[in-house]
Amino acid sequence: MSPPSYCPHCGCIPNLYKHSKKEQLFMDLPMHRKRVGILVLRQRYKCRDCNRTFWELLADMDEKRAATKRLVKHIEKDSLRKTFVSISEDVGVDEKTIRNIFRDYINRLEETVRFETPKWLGLDEIHIIKPRCVITNIEERTLINLLPNRNKESVINYLYHLPNKERIQYVTMDMWQPYRDAVRTVLPKATIIIDKFHVVRMANQALETIRKDLRANLSTKERRGD
Ligand SMILES: [Zn+2]
Repeated sequence: MSPPSYCPHCGCIPNLYKHSKKEQLFMDLPMHRKRVGILVLRQRYKCRDCNRTFWELLADMDEKRAATKRLVKHIEKDSLRKTFVSISEDVGVDEKTIRNIFRDYINRLEETVRFETPKWLGLDEIHIIKPRCVITNIEERTLINLLPNRNKESVINYLYHLPNKERIQYVTMDMWQPYRDAVRTVLPKATIIIDKFHVVRMANQALETIRKDLRANLSTKERRGD
C-alpha cells in the first residue's frame, strides 16, 4: 500500500506521520463456495498541517460495505435474481447490507434507463388485488408501466404526460371501452387495434348466447329432433 499523496481533510501535499495501525476485515468473492474475508492491517496517518487523522486509501475496497469492490459488483448482479438471504449466506455479508447494495444499484439503474415512448403501444390488464392497466411496448415486448387502476381518467392522465407521445402510431388493446376513449382523447391520430384474442373470445361468447337463446325457444320435440 502506497502512502496517500495528499491529506483528504485540508488537501495539502502530505506532511504526515504514521499514527496507528488497525486490522480491518473486508469480505471478498467466495472461492469454491467458501466465504473469503481479507484482513487488512491498515495504517492510520496524521496530518501535521491540520492535525487530523485518516486511514490509508484502499483502492479495491468499498469502505461503506466493508467488502471488496468486486464483491459489491457481484452482489449487485445476484440481487436481481436471488433472495437477499441466500446471497448473504453465500458471501458472508449481512442481509441488511445486501438490501442496501441492491437499493443503491436500482437507483443507479433507474437514472440511466429511460423508457422510450414506443411507436406501437399496448394497453392490457392485469389483476393485482384489483384490475390495473398495463402499458407495454409491443415491438420490444417490454413492460413500460403499471397503473394503479384501469379507469379512463388514469389512462388519460398517463398518456397525456408521456414524452414524445406523437411517436405512437398504433395502440393495441382489449375491448375495454375506457381504454378506447382515453386513446381517442389523447392520441386521436393513433390507430386502435383490438387484440385478436379478445375479438375471438367475444365472438365465441356471442355465439354461445345466441345458441342458448335459440335452444331455450325450441319445443321439447324440436330439441329432440336434431
Ligand atoms: Zn491535513
